[in-house]
Amino acid sequence: MADDAFLALGREAERMIRDLAQISAEEGRLIRLYLTPEHRHAADLVGRWMSEAGLDVTEDALGTVRGRLDPAGGGQNAARRLLIGSHIDTVIDAGAYDGTLGVIAGILAVREVVRRHGRMPFGIDVLAFGDEEGSRFPATLLCSEAVAGHFDSAALAVESVDGVRLDDALRRYGKDPARIGEAAYDPEEAAAYVEVHIEQGPVLEQAGEALGVVTAIASQSRHTVTVIGEAGHAGTVPMALRRDALAASAEIALALEGLALGNADDFMVGTVGKMSVLPGATNVIPARVVFTVDLRSQTDARRLEALARLRDEIAAIADRRRVTAWMERTHEVAAKPCDPTLQAGFAGAIAGQGGRAIRLPSGAGHDGQAVGALCPIGMLFVRCRGGISHNPAEFTSVEDMGRAVAALIGFIENFDRSFLAA
Ligand SMILES: [Zn+2]
Repeated sequence: MADDAFLALGREAERMIRDLAQISAEEGRLIRLYLTPEHRHAADLVGRWMSEAGLDVTEDALGTVRGRLDPAGGGQNAARRLLIGSHIDTVIDAGAYDGTLGVIAGILAVREVVRRHGRMPFGIDVLAFGDEEGSRFPATLLCSEAVAGHFDSAALAVESVDGVRLDDALRRYGKDPARIGEAAYDPEEAAAYVEVHIEQGPVLEQAGEALGVVTAIASQSRHTVTVIGEAGHAGTVPMALRRDALAASAEIALALEGLALGNADDFMVGTVGKMSVLPGATNVIPARVVFTVDLRSQTDARRLEALARLRDEIAAIADRRRVTAWMERTHEVAAKPCDPTLQAGFAGAIAGQGGRAIRLPSGAGHDGQAVGALCPIGMLFVRCRGGISHNPAEFTSVEDMGRAVAALIGFIENFDRSFLAA
């Protein structure tokens, strides 16, 4: 495909990105939360685009917009369906590409496939999920969990930041919470789920490549570490006699950094993002420090091994510094590996454009984590400027978007040969 063909597809994606970015709760910054009037407006626009692309449009009980292309019929794969999705909700003061690019790429790719081939031997659904970010309700991936048949009805009672229960918000949105079960796909029908998403990190830009193949959605644990020392006068207690909870915490943070650096081949990243220091006075030795540990890795085994080593380090540091320290888990998500055959499908599509298929894990969570309980998943990452995301400065070039749509077209065209027949 010539460069100008990428540009034509990319320009269309860009125009649609701009149209969706207009739909916001506030003028001047992008805020589009789940089950709000903005969500309704965006879902209507996406539904219209799906119709124009030749898809049959429906919505499920959680508001996921589905554009359906039925199979040509008759063949052995006529009962199988490729799901292509991403999300149309945003964080507060969001960029325009996170989530929306994946939905738009799905619509544009299927439209082109319909134009070239009519129906395919397998069915295709393009899905626009409504709650990936979890910015309004203290829950995420509800829409994709429902699609996977794993919706937990306890979530219906969670309350939004504006004080509305999820079930009430659904009813106000015109949905019947009793029908959420109908959103689930039959696992026999759902052959695979794929998602195009901006990388939200700097790896592709550093590598000079527009597109990359995701190996796994990273495993993740969050812990709280508490360190108890002893308060004392900052002027009178000699250094050797101190039990400084902050100095010990700093050493633990460096130990975490060392572990992550030592596991760089597994894309491990470790972060202390929040720390509270008590009593918190200039002239008092810190007595109590509480801080967070966020640890992510491509594989569960490597993450768990690093956590065990971190526990040992914490014990050794506490011992040497005569403080008490412990670590408690607050959150854990297992890695979700991307299917090797789907990865090969995307790698082939990238190679077909003359690109080098960089493999990288996703450090951020995505809808695929939930849909992965239903069927194999695959993801294609698109370079974004400076790796910046969840920020109005988020940017992906027209050409890179065009390359992503073209790669998805190539992937769909080969899906029955490369995946269903494999
Ligand atoms: Zn996203």
